[in-house]
Amino acid sequence: MQKLILKPGREKSLKRRHPWVFSGGVARVTGEPSSGDTIEVHSSSGDFLALAAYSPKSQIVARAWSWDTRDIDAGFFRERIERALRERETFLDASTTDAIRLVHGESDGLPGVVADRYADTIVMQLSSAGADRWREVIADALMEASGAARLWERSDAEVRKLEGLPAAVGPLRGQREPTRVTVNENGLAFCVDLERGHKTGFYLDQRDNRQLVRTLARGRDVLDGFCYTGGFSVNAAAGGARSVLAVDSSSEALELARQNAGLNAVSGVSWVEDDVFLLLRKLRDERRAFDLVVLDPPKFAPTAAHVAKAARAYKDISLLAFKLLRPGGILVTFSCSGGVSAELFQKIVAGSALDAGVDAQIIRHLGAAADHPVALQFPEGEYLKGLVCRVSGQ
Ligand code: SAH
Repeated sequence: MQKLILKPGREKSLKRRHPWVFSGGVARVTGEPSSGDTIEVHSSSGDFLALAAYSPKSQIVARAWSWDTRDIDAGFFRERIERALRERETFLDASTTDAIRLVHGESDGLPGVVADRYADTIVMQLSSAGADRWREVIADALMEASGAARLWERSDAEVRKLEGLPAAVGPLRGQREPTRVTVNENGLAFCVDLERGHKTGFYLDQRDNRQLVRTLARGRDVLDGFCYTGGFSVNAAAGGARSVLAVDSSSEALELARQNAGLNAVSGVSWVEDDVFLLLRKLRDERRAFDLVVLDPPKFAPTAAHVAKAARAYKDISLLAFKLLRPGGILVTFSCSGGVSAELFQKIVAGSALDAGVDAQIIRHLGAAADHPVALQFPEGEYLKGLVCRVSGQ
């Protein structure tokens, strides 16, 4: 088999079972492997380290499939996918939730492979050359293991460009129509757009946090910044909020959000198309006040290079949110930026409270739901962090 040989001293992270090989650590590659081929990775002294997918165009030049010399074939993918599905059976109640992440990339031992189940449809997202090579095999294994009726592909994440891969979107198994699917999440219905929705269609990682907001909302005036298709807003309304003001800059997302409110027969949500940064200022100037503010912005810092700018953006919105909260009010604020650590995020939020002139306490630390595990050897898998802060009462 074709081999990738590392420079001296560069075997440490693979030995700790971190699955990525960076191009800077490579001494040489034997033969002429193509993008997506399985190669053996060896240390400079010739020790076998891993079987990995070769990705010559990316800075992450190889991603480990396995730490032993088993065959990387259809049986391998079937085994990993069945394991990932089995692990999820233990903590999700299928009678109240049929929208779950089945495969979460590196943390499920399948670098570059994400698969989400939306009722009887699987949406698969492949983002590395290795995953792309095994498209048909992975699709078959997902269909077989899940018993789903059809499978859509949404391999259109930006990162594919770094791998030199074109976007691939569309039906792969089963019927094309409908392109919208209604799912059940903790007893609430949400319509998911397979073709045009963000990520694979829905932010499944926020499932538990949406339910938490449902329990916090009773009798409160709620502001949901960056509401997308209404996940937090519909939960807040279902939880008995007095009012909900939901804001997003995407008219398409808001159209679905209104539909989601209708599906759950909740009323009292005002859907506003606006830029949250501007709207928060308007609300401040109008001296509006809220008892619960949720901020779930898009990824401001995809990588460490964007951290300073992202920090300013997080500070700006959380400072304004603190100013809008009544005494005893609650801020639920998130960062899904891989480049911003939980520690830094907490510092930013603390600085915002200080500058807003409020005393606040953290009452909960939040993260992604359990179907988005983080392999201990792959800390990069941890991206979503949230804080629930309570502003002191009088
Ligand atoms: N909380 C949502 C997910 C939010 S995703 C859920 O649980 O489903 C982030 C959203 O922010 C997207 O819908 C995007 O359209 C919106 N967005 C991005 N920049 C924005 C801005 N400056 N103002 C308002 N909305 C914005």
